Amino acid sequence: MSLIIEVNHLTKKFGNTVAVNDLSFTVNKGDVYGFLGQNGAGKSTTIRMLLTLIHPTSGEINLFGKKLDANRSNILRQVGAVIEKPDLYKYLSAYDNLSIFAKMSGIKVTKQLLMQQLQMVGLEDRAKDTVRTYSQGMKQRLGIAVALVHNPALIILDEPTNGLDPQGIADVRNLILRLSKEMGKTVLISSHLLSEIELIASRMIILHKGKKMVEGNVSTLLDPAHTLIEIDTLNNEAAKQLLLQSAWAASLQGNHQLQLMMDKTMVPQLINFLVANDVQILSVNTSHSLENYFLSLTTQSGHVEAFAN
Ligand code: ADP
Repeated sequence: MSLIIEVNHLTKKFGNTVAVNDLSFTVNKGDVYGFLGQNGAGKSTTIRMLLTLIHPTSGEINLFGKKLDANRSNILRQVGAVIEKPDLYKYLSAYDNLSIFAKMSGIKVTKQLLMQQLQMVGLEDRAKDTVRTYSQGMKQRLGIAVALVHNPALIILDEPTNGLDPQGIADVRNLILRLSKEMGKTVLISSHLLSEIELIASRMIILHKGKKMVEGNVSTLLDPAHTLIEIDTLNNEAAKQLLLQSAWAASLQGNHQLQLMMDKTMVPQLINFLVANDVQILSVNTSHSLENYFLSLTTQSGHVEAFAN
């Protein structure tokens, strides 16, 4: 399985604000990778670093197996992105917009190819209408067609369903699924809605205050058999070291807190193991499914600190 994105210990500071904090993650070829986090979590900042629009304070980004800072233009030729509302010429048609953006990218296109791309985003019947007559969802899909005009292998979309009506959301969602399934594209999509990521993504990460909280397969993370277990002990660091050297290591999550993601029925075994190794347990909290956990990040800031520290 080849790695399309590999981010290692990425940090971005704006003055005293740490927007992205020691973030590491990987995106595999063919993934629809969900980047989930509430507003201000650091999603856009990370995406801007992936596109070299801003520079990291520290850390490393590899795209397509190459260092981004040393191979910028070669790499970015293989990337298409929509990061804000797409910048379209509203008095021109969808066809003319696409044709202009293709020319600006130095791409030779035929009428047939442009029409194929408009067909792919479901706009072939409205190709000749001016963009100002389009709904937000249609503009967003045209923006995605523009991002695809140079046939990139990786598509990055920052909150692509924001501000769309339910039909617009469904259309964009279906388009993203087709990009992945029919065209073999790798897609990174950010959202502040778990329900959105759940429907589109194959793998996901949850960001909170610039830090990675959880990363994994969406089906595994949302499987009710996989519960987040939070344990407090007299010496969490020692307990963590013990777990790291045991079969429980694969279940460990988070950075500093003692958290594991696993089937709830395994909890008694875990506690027995800790007790047998003289760990003094203060509390065990097994109440957080991923959905509750994400909700707790967005609603109860007091509780959040317990996870984020
Ligand atoms: P998200 O995309 O998840 O909503 P952002 O990456 O936009 O989050 O923001 C992360 C944090 O960084 C926020 O606290 C935001 O205010 C801050 N931030 C983002 N861009 C800048 C900037 N250019 N200057 C100062 N602070 C910024």
